[in-house]
Amino acid sequence: MKSKSGNKSEICIIPKPVSLVRGEGSFLFDSDTVLVANECTSAAAAALADTFRPAAGFILKVTASLPKGRDSVFFALDPSLKELGDEGYRLVVANDRVTLAAPTQAGLFYAVQTLRQMLPPEIFSQKLQSGVEWGVPCAEITDYPRFAWRGLMLDTGHDFQRLSYIFRFIDLMAMHKFNVLHWHICDLGTFPLEIHGYPELQNPAHLGKREKGNPPRPVKHGFYTQDEARAVVAYAAERHITVLPEIDMPGHSQPVLLAYPEFDCPVPMYEWHDFERWEYCIGGEKAIAFIEEVLTQVMAIFPSELIHIGGDECPSTHWETCPVCQEAIKAQGLKDVEELRRSFLLRIERFLAGRGRRMIGWDELFENGVKTSTAIMAWRPKVSLTAPAAKAGHDVVVASASHLYFDYSETTTPVEKVYSFEPVPAELTAEQADKILGAQAQLWSDNHPTEEQIDRLVYPRACAAAEVVWSGRGNCDWADFAGRLRAHAPRLSSLDIHIPLPE
Ligand SMILES: [Zn+2]
Repeated sequence: MKSKSGNKSEICIIPKPVSLVRGEGSFLFDSDTVLVANECTSAAAAALADTFRPAAGFILKVTASLPKGRDSVFFALDPSLKELGDEGYRLVVANDRVTLAAPTQAGLFYAVQTLRQMLPPEIFSQKLQSGVEWGVPCAEITDYPRFAWRGLMLDTGHDFQRLSYIFRFIDLMAMHKFNVLHWHICDLGTFPLEIHGYPELQNPAHLGKREKGNPPRPVKHGFYTQDEARAVVAYAAERHITVLPEIDMPGHSQPVLLAYPEFDCPVPMYEWHDFERWEYCIGGEKAIAFIEEVLTQVMAIFPSELIHIGGDECPSTHWETCPVCQEAIKAQGLKDVEELRRSFLLRIERFLAGRGRRMIGWDELFENGVKTSTAIMAWRPKVSLTAPAAKAGHDVVVASASHLYFDYSETTTPVEKVYSFEPVPAELTAEQADKILGAQAQLWSDNHPTEEQIDRLVYPRACAAAEVVWSGRGNCDWADFAGRLRAHAPRLSSLDIHIPLPE
């Protein structure tokens, strides 16, 4: 006999839903529970069924019609709910029936994510759990996100992470309703994406030379084939996550220039000093042809409308002495190396636009004078370009190092500080504020963290970031969040991420 009474335990969901009304009793999942879905809603039903397989050990049946006398879970794609937006949903849990309704597939997927967090935390385990009653408290939830861009950045360019880890990273993102994985593919450590015609990129002889971390570790070797990168894109798409690829240029390109020195300026090397040496020779056609070939192959893998081209931390000093760059300045009638840089960026912008894509880059691009069609990722808190870029008409993604750099220690950037972040500067008008697409947190791998260390750098801070971008400020406060984070911790524990509990 099923127990339907249930207790009045709290429902603790991260990110917090817009509206949640607790009911009496609970719905109990068991191996007889039936998921009712049609062709349009079967993906969300499969996502829920997948949730139960490892931990509960049963495979929920998906059927097109209502079975008699069985407790059922209904999935409804309902265009009349369009006021919930592209990602909103309604979730109603009653004693004998659960209804998930949304105007879009993404909304249904997020309803499933919420339902997962209403189950006992053991549901997140990949191992069979015995003796658990899979009850969900009765409730009515209406929910939708504040921002359309809810991102996390993973850096495989300073140090390499295995493909299996990227899938895990995506699973954790989906659980927290993030929808953009910014994949910082290449940087000073490694260029780990296969590019046809350039096999030397993956030669371990051209890895960055610095040992970092505690204890110091070399850059890990490994790479992703194009098919593997496509598998990442597909896996993310099933979870309603867009993969934004970044090919950093014109700086941060050490492994490329070690592998193919002909793309470098023919001038003496500077002393190795972080990012200050590794720029393409942007006055020469050789490097630009390589960059355009890389972008062509990248666009064939990644369907994202936006393509990230970095653009950060790139001094121009050695272009000053490069005969090729100086010749290009003369030939194009430019004033100086900064005009050469701008000419290069506008060319890349045109190259992407000609192929139906749009450029996005770090906020240096705003200072470099790119067109307003280029989106700006605002990261430098000191120069604070979020408001100026939005006022000038750029789309802006806020990625501020002050609150959203998760490679920084938890002393520098504690979870409470992340939680306090407000992406929209108060000085913006409503129309200007519409240019703020959302925000994202960054995990740089400069210090060569292990995958376990990345988990713990990202969580629980990503829980706070998820709430900043999904729930918004009017709906929650720190004390409320800290309480829910305590309830969330066992879910993360089931996924082998053991976070300290907030006080
Ligand atoms: Zn040059």
